[in-house]
Amino acid sequence: MKRGRVHALSFDVEEHFQVSAFWSDERRSKWETYESRVERNTEKILDLLSRRGVRATFFVLGWVAKRHRGLVRTIVDQGHELASHGYGHELITNQHPDQFRDDVRKSKQLLEDIAGVPVHGYRAPSFTIVAQTRWALPILVEEGYHYDSSIFPIRHDRYGMPGALPYYHCIETASGPLWEVPPSTLKIGPLRIPIAGGGYFRLFPYPILRRLLTIAEAKGDPLVMYLHPWELDPEQPRMDGSWLSTVRHYLNLDKTEARLKRLLADFPFTTIRNTLDTVGQVCLKRAGFANRSNVNVQDRASRYRATGNGHA
Ligand SMILES: [Zn+2]
Repeated sequence: MKRGRVHALSFDVEEHFQVSAFWSDERRSKWETYESRVERNTEKILDLLSRRGVRATFFVLGWVAKRHRGLVRTIVDQGHELASHGYGHELITNQHPDQFRDDVRKSKQLLEDIAGVPVHGYRAPSFTIVAQTRWALPILVEEGYHYDSSIFPIRHDRYGMPGALPYYHCIETASGPLWEVPPSTLKIGPLRIPIAGGGYFRLFPYPILRRLLTIAEAKGDPLVMYLHPWELDPEQPRMDGSWLSTVRHYLNLDKTEARLKRLLADFPFTTIRNTLDTVGQVCLKRAGFANRSNVNVQDRASRYRATGNGHA
């Protein structure tokens, strides 16, 4: 049975050899030589979505967009939201602010040039907006982004900001307000566990994941799910890496497609941008409640919406 709340579905569009877990300068220097599989894997996702009539947000890496312009246009032509995954997939934790600015500017311009539509959203490689890279948030505002989906409110060895708000909220940066759209998590006892997608989507048996998502959904916030095209590609060439990275990357790849189909049958999804339209007021209230400068946040965010720069 369909529920009242519509959730956000997103995909980080990158090649299987670009993932941070297997990153090395040597591998980076060989990107041009590896077999490209991103187009056929993304088309598989587009096909699944179109059969269900579901729209989603695609955070496309600039490096991929430059080489697969037709794919970017197809994503937009099929009614999906185009958003940015940055250009070169360098972790923000390895970038200086100037490098980050160049990266997010270059990717936004490229995507907008190819598709002819505005890009509002950004997601960092491996969710690397963490405590020490919060400087990235005002830069996103300055570069014309309206929302970010990079802060994962969990503990993890490579990313995460434990204690960050686990639901949609407005962040008042030094350069103006920015919506933050964190991937879904669920607090169980003292632990906050990720239930949003990626390795976790493949780790839990589907009935357990469904149960966790149903509990999270009952709290009233939209779920924010994410997957990568390479997660639907069990045939992809194997890469060398640490034991943990290898387990995380290759676990249950042969089950992702069937799980995604079940997820699409069990929960209603749309683009992140569409969910921002519907959570706006809740978001403002919560952000005001959670922030010491309540009036300021609400006032600035309201003006932001009223000027037409937001998603109201
Ligand atoms: Zn990525």
